[in-house]
Amino acid sequence: MPTTQHGDVGDGHLFYEHALSPHPHTPLAAHRRTGLADVHMHTTASDGTGTPAEVLAFARDHTNLDVIAITDHDTLDGALRARDLLAASGPERFELIIGEEVSTREGHLLALFIERRIPPGLSIERSIELIHEQGGLAVVAHPFNRVFRHSVQRAVMNRLLRQPGLHPDGIETLNGSFAGIGSSRVAMTAARRVYRWAETGGSDAHTPTAIGCASTRFVGRTVDDLRASLLARTTAPVGGFWHAAEYMALARSRIASGGVAASRVAAPRVRVRGQALRARLSARVGGRLG
Ligand SMILES: [Zn+2]
Ligand SMILES: [Zn+2]
Repeated sequence: MPTTQHGDVGDGHLFYEHALSPHPHTPLAAHRRTGLADVHMHTTASDGTGTPAEVLAFARDHTNLDVIAITDHDTLDGALRARDLLAASGPERFELIIGEEVSTREGHLLALFIERRIPPGLSIERSIELIHEQGGLAVVAHPFNRVFRHSVQRAVMNRLLRQPGLHPDGIETLNGSFAGIGSSRVAMTAARRVYRWAETGGSDAHTPTAIGCASTRFVGRTVDDLRASLLARTTAPVGGFWHAAEYMALARSRIASGGVAASRVAAPRVRVRGQALRARLSARVGGRLG
């Protein structure tokens, strides 16, 4: 049985009950069907190592995900290519959401259920507006990471909180990458105590094998169910973080692709740092990560 405390990173079961169960002692599975969605991942259309075809193949063959969202940096090309591939290959076991990870002036913002690209470099408020104008949902990616420059910081989150018309629909409280190590716990606490926006978990996979390491539990099984569950704030993050092999694969790919000298140095440093933090977190939560 769980040895972790309520809300600790890595104990998905507790998150799941926390957010979804109408009564704390009622097992969820007894009365509702739930699904799993990984709503944050990258392909070769931005800085991922897997082509859209490889991402689809991994999701199909190696995960139990019901829904995936491809969210490349500032482009829909990977997601749209994946949709074309799915259309050509026939119905799949999982459904696809067209998404984008938008580089706003204040940090990364996931745009889900969109059809038109949101340009980078706008304010986070304007970006949320543009997402909502086309019927999409906005989720703040990996907030509160104080050393990651693309992470939305607390002052900005509080600024959004003061503007009810510009609230994001969700907050990523479990991010499987280095961006989420150390900040996911902060985000979970803040989401539950202060912001109350729907919580999501996403792998932020840049290599196909990381897909699904973190995901979002929702009520139902389909894309429409996920959307409804996000709007009803009945979602919960589950899972853990990238494994060392994923950091190494990404580092190898960055070096092979060309490498700028900086990536040669920075990628291994990220890997080592991730491992160290992972080891520390693992010890703290009883080795249940990943
Ligand atoms: Zn990001
Ligand atoms: Zn990302």
